[in-house]
Amino acid sequence: MGQIKAFTPKSQFSSGMVWYFAIFHGLALLAFFPFAFSWSAVALMLVLNWMTASLGICLGFHRFLTHRSLELPKWLGYCFVFIGTLALENGPIKWVAQHRMHHASSDTNQDPHSARKGFWWAHMGWMVYRHPEHHNPFRINRYAKDLLDDAFYVFLEKHFIAIQVVFGLILFAIGGLPWVIWGIFLRVVLVYHQTWLVNSAAHTFGYKNVKLKNDLSTNCWWVGLLAFGEGWHNNHHAFPKSARHGLRPWEVDMTWWTISLLKTLGLATNLQVARLYPNRNNEYFNGEVVKGEAVRPAA
Ligand SMILES: [Zn+2]
Ligand SMILES: [Zn+2]
Repeated sequence: MGQIKAFTPKSQFSSGMVWYFAIFHGLALLAFFPFAFSWSAVALMLVLNWMTASLGICLGFHRFLTHRSLELPKWLGYCFVFIGTLALENGPIKWVAQHRMHHASSDTNQDPHSARKGFWWAHMGWMVYRHPEHHNPFRINRYAKDLLDDAFYVFLEKHFIAIQVVFGLILFAIGGLPWVIWGIFLRVVLVYHQTWLVNSAAHTFGYKNVKLKNDLSTNCWWVGLLAFGEGWHNNHHAFPKSARHGLRPWEVDMTWWTISLLKTLGLATNLQVARLYPNRNNEYFNGEVVKGEAVRPAA
């Protein structure tokens, strides 16, 4: 009797993804040639960068949809998720599913971008060498089944590329080539790296507030600043449902500022917020041992 081998699918190299990333990075570099430069394009890029990275990805895709750490009126939730779709990081369903896979088994073989496979793997290698399981449509649907009944999310999932093309045409009509190069290509590439640094640098450099078993997540101050608060990633792994990621006084969390404003306006409700307490040796500020309480709803 022959031995039955466990089926372990291997990662597959995707030359299409390499071309895609190369072309986008190449077109982004055109921003620094005089023919593609205008000050209005720079301003547009900065505004769109904040909108798509912080409002779209951090707030919409991540804290609202993936972790349900706050509730929003339906129309406002749709607005943030639509803006997130403009980041061109897939539609909301695949994004949410793969991020939930990451939390379900962080830094193991089941994690789509385990940092144990190295910085570059976690940063972008996992999208170039695609693992069939992590990109399997059935598995994706299973991890994001709460989104499948929503026709708007399904629409965004199907058409996120067409939406970007239409957005690019609108920018071209208003501001010409500089608005397309800065508002689409440079902005998308920068938001990519801002997001990817959370998976790479914030699983490699920095300190931990909470010790977690078999988990490499860190609080990395410069990713905290660049990625609008998402770099306080050890806090986030410790308390995934917390709408607030920066928990110490210096842990600047710009996305939390927006959520706080929405709360003040009565638009964000049922917020879940984590708090950190020092242990009895007062080991709060050495970043080594901090006892975190369980997440509980904010007052
Ligand atoms: Zn992580
Ligand atoms: Zn998360």
